[in-house]
Amino acid sequence: MSIAANLAQIHDQIAAACRHANRPIADVALMAVSKLHPVDCMLEAHAAGHRLFGENRVQEFAEKFPTLAPLSDPARNDPPYAQYHLIGPLQSNKTARAAELFHSIDTVDSLKIAQRLNTAAAALNKKLPLLIEVKLSHEDSKHGIPPEDLPALLSAVAELSHLEALGLMTVPPWDLDPETARPYFQTLRRLRDQQQRLYPTLTQLSIGMSNDFAVAIEEGSTCVRIGTAIFGKRVPSAQP
Ligand SMILES: *Cc1c(COP(=O)(O)O)cnc(C)c1O
Repeated sequence: MSIAANLAQIHDQIAAACRHANRPIADVALMAVSKLHPVDCMLEAHAAGHRLFGENRVQEFAEKFPTLAPLSDPARNDPPYAQYHLIGPLQSNKTARAAELFHSIDTVDSLKIAQRLNTAAAALNKKLPLLIEVKLSHEDSKHGIPPEDLPALLSAVAELSHLEALGLMTVPPWDLDPETARPYFQTLRRLRDQQQRLYPTLTQLSIGMSNDFAVAIEEGSTCVRIGTAIFGKRVPSAQP
């Protein structure tokens, strides 16, 4: 199937999940995860009307960016403009480049990274939206801040005037059965609800991938991150 047909099918499935969960469709954004897919796939999605993209690596996106930058240029497009979010781990030596390239950093998981992003955003004269990635899984391969450290990080980020924390993100352990992810989604939502009383801008929950997005929508997802079901299988050998 074409990327346009895949997008249409996912939108239908998101709509069905929203109806089932009794939530407005407008509350759930679809992020197309384009990592390890060529930039032409992103152009094809854009031509089909898609605007929100997630990329995992600063370097990979920097290579795609010259082709993509015009799509988010208000001088050359009508709104809504293309938006690019970083959804992979960020190393501190890439923070300046990341602040420059991305509209949002969805994987902030330390004060050091937040401070460096704040300095970079100040130099760019912009306010950078972000999500805090929380590690709820015990797998070593997963990133994020331990939930017990979240209040301290949020309180420190609130002092950084060029950053704006808009929500939480997590990646549960992968499992063929989407129900395995549900308790992780519920925990993240509880954390968000607690912290939102102190930080009213903390509205977003980035949860749900190709295999478990319907469950994530039931548990309050405001952004599902979908790669395979839109762009097809990734070629692992292309991973740098
Ligand atoms: C790759 C990736 C996705 C998309 O995964 P699919 O299973 O291909 O939909 C979503 N979120 C993150 C953080 C990812 O790294």
